[in-house]
Amino acid sequence: MFDIYDLTQKDPKSLQERALKLAEEAGELAQAVLSVTKAPGSEYKAHSLGDVREEAVDAAIVALSILAQASSSREDFDAELDRLMVLKCSKWQEKLSE
Ligand SMILES: [Mg+2]
Repeated sequence: MFDIYDLTQKDPKSLQERALKLAEEAGELAQAVLSVTKAPGSEYKAHSLGDVREEAVDAAIVALSILAQASSSREDFDAELDRLMVLKCSKWQEKLSE
């Protein structure tokens, strides 16, 4: 796997720029999903599920890069990623079992 923390350190983007980039990638993902599901006005764009997968990963990478930039060290990044994934996924799981 690639080292998101290291790539983030080497990329001079600001936190604001990364947040805007995430919004851009979320828009691209929405566009691909609208096209694949043939939402009115979007079917002509002819996206595939492959495009949906690609845009989902683009968004995930930028989101992880934001987490990396908001962390004080690699150890902090790794620990927060683990802690928050467990916390948020268990909240999601609880919601589903209600
Ligand atoms: Mg993209």
